[in-house]
Amino acid sequence: MPCEMRSKRYLPCLLLFVGSLGFLHFSGTNAEQRSFIPQAERTELVIPIAVYILDSDGGNNRLSSRRSDHSFASHFARVNEIWRQANIVIEPVLVDRLEVPRELLWGLAHRTGRGGVRDFFRGLRRGQFEIGAKNEKAVVWAFFVRSMGGVNGLAPGGSRTFFVADNPTVNDARVTSHELGHVLGLYHASFDSNRLLFSGTNGIVLTDEEQRVARYNARRLIE
Ligand SMILES: [Zn+2]
Repeated sequence: MPCEMRSKRYLPCLLLFVGSLGFLHFSGTNAEQRSFIPQAERTELVIPIAVYILDSDGGNNRLSSRRSDHSFASHFARVNEIWRQANIVIEPVLVDRLEVPRELLWGLAHRTGRGGVRDFFRGLRRGQFEIGAKNEKAVVWAFFVRSMGGVNGLAPGGSRTFFVADNPTVNDARVTSHELGHVLGLYHASFDSNRLLFSGTNGIVLTDEEQRVARYNARRLIE
């Protein structure tokens, strides 16, 4: 409908305009009001996750993660503060140390691009290391590694896995939360560094659309 100011069509156009202002204002208010997901759809979604802290075989400590097994309760408490905005809860059902051939960890540290990650999963498929059966409740697998060659974290596209390096340049719970976002089908945000999916910042904001996509994919993972 064209907006012709001099005709009687002016009124519906004005109403449309005012309506859209209302919409804009509405979408700028607090997170509770902003959500268009019906209340019934906002039930808590719990994602069971297996956490592996990667150590080098042969005792090469330069390639072994420095994280302690006990640090993950508080780590995921902080992750869950971030994901609470989508009413998604990440529940570690397993925290275990995993010995991995040193050349695979070296590859993750020095060939962070496709090569290192590809070789890591190829090593897993070939039985160079095993993640065992204790994780059967998990639907996502997280690998915490000494180094990803200067990258804070990485989520191989289309997989239910992600990696987080020991000493990221930003809040490490934010790195985990960001990578989880990728696992839940979210892409990088441009322009707004307050967003969780903006690279390399401490932003934590999930838009309504991101919450909707993440909840849709979370439900598919757990149902
Ligand atoms: Zn990313």
